[in-house]
Amino acid sequence: MQKINVTIWNEFIHERGEDPVGVLIRKIYPDGIHNALAENLAAEDLSIRAVSLDMPEQGLPDEVLNSTDVLVWWGHCAHAQVADALVDRIQNRVQHGMGLVVLHSGHLSKIFRRMLGTQCRLRWREIGEKERIWVVDKSHPVAQGVPETFTLPHTEMYGEPFDIPDDGKIVFLSWYEGGNVFRSGVAFQRDAGRIFYFAPGHETYPIYHDATVLKVIGNAIRWAALPGGIQPDRITSQPEPLEKVLTENPLKTLNTAELHHSK
Ligand code: ZN
Repeated sequence: MQKINVTIWNEFIHERGEDPVGVLIRKIYPDGIHNALAENLAAEDLSIRAVSLDMPEQGLPDEVLNSTDVLVWWGHCAHAQVADALVDRIQNRVQHGMGLVVLHSGHLSKIFRRMLGTQCRLRWREIGEKERIWVVDKSHPVAQGVPETFTLPHTEMYGEPFDIPDDGKIVFLSWYEGGNVFRSGVAFQRDAGRIFYFAPGHETYPIYHDATVLKVIGNAIRWAALPGGIQPDRITSQPEPLEKVLTENPLKTLNTAELHHSK
């Protein structure tokens, strides 16, 4: 079986905090969110690596990035620390077909904003309210095997308006106890790369131990692993005409060197 090479990237900062919140998060994710996800998503068809910001080359040297089929991203307080040169390399890989699954507060990561081209801002509130998630596109591969609706007992509210481009395919919609709604699962295509954003995953609740959430993330990884769109290198930019062109080119008498120069 051809395995999907998955790299789970985490900034891995909240889990190491010495404040009471850090202690709480460590109880939920003793080895960090990335390692918990790697363990909980383990499956025969996935070969999973977990990396973090503090590793050499911020966890993504060429040999790791270039052998990754799907990159999963969790970041929150250290978005600005991610090197622009790394963002360039990730963008290039996505454009050439690497999948990207962006989780929770990764909506403000440099790579997500770069790929989407908008600010990706949203409303948020952290009072431990309930979230109800609805599948709005049950035919989408990321929704397969996911119940039509399910709840998380405690979550951080992420609310509309969510400043993302409207070419995304909405797969999940969330309702929160406090009344807000949010496009919590959205699929995008950028060149050959598939991108999925999934909102649940606030660090102080055990959301990445929830079986349905893990089902969604696993589906998103398998969907994003498939190549789609157009490989940028495979576009013939100056094709010969397929049909005989009879219309005379009015610029034919011009010096072609001059013509190219003027472009
Ligand atoms: Zn959060």
